[in-house]
Order: sequence, then structure tokens, then C-alpha cells
Amino acid sequence: MLQIKNITFAYKKTPILKAISFNVKPGEHVSIIGESGSGKSTLLKLIYGEYDLDAGQILWKDTPILGPKFNLVVGYEFIKYVAQEFDLMPFTSIEENIGKHLSNFFPKEKKQRIAELLDVVELTPFAKQKVKTLSGGQKQRVALARALAKQPEIMLLDEPFSHIDSFKKRRLRRNLFRYLKQKNISCIVATHDKNDVLGFADRILVLQDSKLILNDLPEVIYKHPKTPLVASFFGECNTIDGQLVYAHRLAVVKDAPLKVTVKQTYFEGYRYLIEATKEDHTIIFYHQEYLNPGKDVCLKIVAS
Ligand code: ADP
Ligand code: MG
Repeated sequence: MLQIKNITFAYKKTPILKAISFNVKPGEHVSIIGESGSGKSTLLKLIYGEYDLDAGQILWKDTPILGPKFNLVVGYEFIKYVAQEFDLMPFTSIEENIGKHLSNFFPKEKKQRIAELLDVVELTPFAKQKVKTLSGGQKQRVALARALAKQPEIMLLDEPFSHIDSFKKRRLRRNLFRYLKQKNISCIVATHDKNDVLGFADRILVLQDSKLILNDLPEVIYKHPKTPLVASFFGECNTIDGQLVYAHRLAVVKDAPLKVTVKQTYFEGYRYLIEATKEDHTIIFYHQEYLNPGKDVCLKIVAS
């Protein structure tokens, strides 16, 4: 088990992370969410051993993960970190990049392994292409495959699909996360995309104001987001009489105490997003039909 025990860290004076504790089991998939600058990347780098902790301890199966003060070479064999910036060898092919750290003493196994990983990231047809000719998204996929080559026990993924277009993203995400589960590889994913989280994560951690404010099942955090910030991660959300209400829980009805005036209607494909006002307060909801600006409607809160 990976144990993060009461860790605190500052680059300079101000702590970026304060007294953070959580555990990750083998094969478990944990998502870290939080605003930009909340310390997600820093937390992953600390788990990787890139910096020295100011307080606390990180252990993997009782081996302490230590920073550069204690290790000449940063990082450990059993843990891989795929950063937001990836450093690949530009003038060599995709397959050589993926196989870089695999032994040449087992050429058949090496070839098989590369083929398996090319398949996971869907780059098989481009195996011989030089990395410098690839798009940002393709490079990100090479970096993912290379990190998996030696079958780590823990994968740290920092916004792993940020450069990948939405045509490819959904399938790649399913392939990669399924692969990690099959191989029982723990993964910690820092992301700002709810689609990386719901449906994949076993647990969600929320970072806010340097602290870990939530650590729970996706279903629990989704249903009880606690703060507007957490709710806004999952979708449009309103505060009505002090209660957080997702936009999809508001339905137009003939008569109800909640009366709003439509300000603008946005086409979203299978529905319209309606921006309305109640006194000076903005209310967002969805509707099947276009609503004219200026129209008054009544809204009711329905069960999820
Ligand atoms: P996130 O990944 O959630 O966007 P980061 O971990 O990258 O957040 O950054 C957290 C905070 O630490 C930010 O305020 C950022 O400016 C600061 N920070 C990040 N890297 C460094 C660094 N190498 N030196 C000093 N400050 C840094
Ligand atoms: Mg980051």
C-alpha cells in the first residue's frame, strides 16, 4: 500500500501542501482534483521523490520514498510519473522510445511488449515514425506507453489526456485505465476533467487551500460536493436557499415558488442550457426546447 502520512511541503516559505494524509491500495485508481495551482502536480512530484518533504513521510510497501537529499538519482523503479511536459527522444521512432528501458537480451519479449503497448495507446500504425514528426497528443500517448513499458507498480499521471483531442480521448482513456486495472497497477491521476474521474476512479481526493478537503467515493462526492467549487467540477451548479443544486435537477413546471426570467439560451446538442435570473442571482438549468430571452418560467427541484 502507498501511504502518504501527514506531509507538508513548500517550494519557498508558503506551504503548498499542509498535513496531507491518504493511502492507495495496489491496483486502486485515485483521482486528485482541485483548481489550477492547488498543488496537484506538486503532490505527484512528491510521491515520485522529486522533492524533499518538509514534514511527514511517504511509504510504498514500507519502503520510504525519499527526495534528492537522500537519493542521487530521483525516482524509483516501481513508480512512474508521466508529467504534463514529456521528454521523449525526438529523433528516434515511437517503438524505440517505448522500448528504451527494456532489455535487449530478450528481443522476442521486448517486441511483444512494445506491440502490446502500441495497441493500448493506439499507435501501432505509426510504430516506425520519428517522435519529432508527431502531434502533441501523439507524443503524450508515446510517453504513456513508455512509462508502462517496465510494468511499474504505481503510475502517476498528470493531466494525462490534456493534449489529446476528444475524438481519441474517450477510447484511449478506457483502454489505458482498463489496462492498469488488469495489471493491478495503482494509479493516481491529477486532472481537471470530470470525464477522467467519474466512471474510472475508485476514490476522489479534493485539494483546496493547501489541504485535502475530501477523500471519498466518486458517488459520494458527486452527490454531496460540500462546496460550490467541488460541485462546479462535475457540472453547472446553483446555490438555491443555501443548497447546492446541479443544473440538471431543475425542471420547468407550470407553477412553483421559484420564478426566474430567461436571459439567454445556448444549444448543447441534445438539450439547451438556459441562463436565467432571479432578482440579481443567476440560475442555470437545462431544457429540451429553446426558450426566448425575457420569458418568465417556474422551476422545481427534482430528484437527481
Ligand atoms: P496544480 O498542478 O494543481 O495546478 P502545482 O502543483 O503545479 O498546482 O502548483 C502549486 C503551487 O506551487 C502554485 O502556486 C505554483 O505556482 C507553485 N509552484 C509550482 N512549481 C513550483 C516551483 N518549481 N517553484 C516554486 N513554486 C512552484
Ligand atoms: Mg498541474
